[in-house]
This record gives sequence, C-alpha cells and structure tokens, in this order.
Amino acid sequence: MGSRPSPRDDIERILVTEQQLEAALDRLAESLTREVGGADPILIGVLGGVFVFLADLVRRLDFALEVDFIDAESYGEDTEAGELKIMKDVDCEIRGRHVVIVDDILDTGQTLSALVRMLQERGPASLRTCVLLDKPARRVIEFEADYVGVRIPNVFVVGYGLDFAQRYRNLPFVGVLRPELYDKRRT
Ligand code: 5GP
Ligand code: MG
Repeated sequence: MGSRPSPRDDIERILVTEQQLEAALDRLAESLTREVGGADPILIGVLGGVFVFLADLVRRLDFALEVDFIDAESYGEDTEAGELKIMKDVDCEIRGRHVVIVDDILDTGQTLSALVRMLQERGPASLRTCVLLDKPARRVIEFEADYVGVRIPNVFVVGYGLDFAQRYRNLPFVGVLRPELYDKRRT
C-alpha cells in the first residue's frame, strides 16, 4: 500500500476546470429556477455518470422538486434512434408532472432522444432535458437539449462523474485521458 496512484496522473489536459463547472452550474440553476421553479418538477437523473453533476445542481435549486433515477442504454444503429434497454426504471408517476431529464453528456443523441420518446408516452405535463456537456460534432440524431452546461469538442472526456472503464469519476474537473492509456485499455 506504499504508493497512492492518483487518477490525475492519467490526465493529459483539463478541458473544463472546476471554476468553469461552477459557472456552468450557476447558469443552469438560474435557467431551471426561472422556467420550472414553480412547477414542482421531477428531475430524472440518467445513471451513473450524472451523480456528481446532479448532486451539485440540486443543491443550487431552492424550490420544491423530486429526484429520481433511470438507468438506460441505447443500443441501436448509428444512424437512427435505437432500442432503449432499461436496467432501472423510475419509481415516480410521471403523468401530469413537469419532468426534466438530467444527463452527464449529450453525444450521439441516441440515449436522450430514446428516453424522451419513452417518457413522453407516459403523459408528462412537460418534458425537458438538461445536460452538463454537449458534444454536437458527434450527433447522429437531430437532437438538442433544452439546457446545456458546456459545449465541448469531439474528444472523449472523463471526470466529474464521467468514467473510462468505471475509473476517473472522482476527478473534480473534466479532462482528457492520455491517449496511450486510452488505446491500451480500450477493449
Ligand atoms: P449518446 O446516446 O448521446 O451517444 O450517449 C450518451 C452517453 O454516452 C453518455 O451519457 C455517456 O454515458 C456516454 N458518453 C458519451 N461521450 C462520452 C465521453 O466523452 N466520455 C464518457 N466518459 N462518456 C461518454
Ligand atoms: Mg450516460
């Protein structure tokens, strides 16, 4: 147990600093307060990368709300909204409620667009989406989130909840892995 390797050692560069994350969270909290603050909304977090973002976000929201979680994965073709595999559904009743789906990152758009379609069928009063990070260059489906924290270029990122092979979620910033590491560990 002599050495204590840090996940920081594997980071090539920081893409979104802690200060930038805080500013993005403040902006998102302001928008949500203005637009759903009086609606007793349900925030539905998409597991598991969202846990850090959602924890920081809800503590900036000073209004009545519920938090629930869904664990889902899209496994469709790259060109259309694929099937959605639900590992854990929400516990709450959605009908007539104002819902905000919260995810860590919007990439190809497949997961969120499929989730929106599925939850829309349950008759919410409104349904919005909120993501910390947005990688528009990777989109294969026409889809935009209602609330976006930070737009980033087409790079694979870790930290602030986002993982590579379940690691790096505990980094307080969003960073890019050293490429040799990524190539070596990619399966
Ligand atoms: P989409 O369906 O939009 O392609 O995929 C969204 C999901 O893919 C995210 O919720 C996240 O789990 C994963 N993902 C997409 N891009 C990245 C990335 O750069 N880093 C990490 N760690 N996960 C990503
Ligand atoms: Mg995800």
